[in-house]
Amino acid sequence: MSLGITWVTDWIRQSARVISEHRVELITLDREIGDGDHGENLDRGFTAVLGKLDDLPPDSVPGDALKLVATTLISTVGGASGPLLGTAYLKAAGAVGKEPELNGAAIVALLTAARDGVVLRGKAEVGDKTMIDAWTPAVDAAAAALADGKNEVEILQAAADAAEKGAESTEPIVARKGRASYLGERAIGHRDPGSQSSALLIRAAADTAAADDSSAGEGSSADDGSAS
Ligand code: ADP
Ligand code: MG
Repeated sequence: MSLGITWVTDWIRQSARVISEHRVELITLDREIGDGDHGENLDRGFTAVLGKLDDLPPDSVPGDALKLVATTLISTVGGASGPLLGTAYLKAAGAVGKEPELNGAAIVALLTAARDGVVLRGKAEVGDKTMIDAWTPAVDAAAAALADGKNEVEILQAAADAAEKGAESTEPIVARKGRASYLGERAIGHRDPGSQSSALLIRAAADTAAADDSSAGEGSSADDGSAS
């Protein structure tokens, strides 16, 4: 199998849904060690993305949809996370280029470029208590799954599992980047909101890939006829 534009647009819609469902949780996490706007910021951004998604031309490829997310997040999300995630989606779009179908290697390249985009912009390392604590384990797990011969869905599921563990790993540490770094030891015991939202976004990628995969597997091995 491979993942194309249907998966990417499903992923984006699911991201918007999940961010909206977890809006209050993300606000609460950010209130504990930041300024309380993270859930609001991302919900505003992904709601704006949803509004533009239907305008994508029918011949769009995954990279086009990722680029739409990037430009929309950069222009609508205030705070640190807008430019950081915007750069992630922009670099992810660049990594997949004009490719209409993404295989496992392309999925790993997409995730790696996204993570590298966040690092380029924010200069955080693993252990700084930022969204990088979700992204880097996700990239590493995806690369390991690819090397193990896993398929696209399994690669994304490995990435999502690692991102969730990564978000959890931000709880016992102090922050060295972002607003939470002003708190010193007082940040200990609180999960970083950006690592939590990134884990949600990566889980949404895995869930939609699994759903696309099972719907593609229904019926026969023949083309499902969705193309006109
Ligand atoms: P702000 O901090 O401006 O209010 P948000 O609340 O939307 O912005 O986002 C905060 C999140 O951004 C943090 O939880 C953290 O994960 C992430 N973040 C902040 N600074 C950096 C950085 N330099 N590198 C990576 N992620 C960062
Ligand atoms: Mg904030």
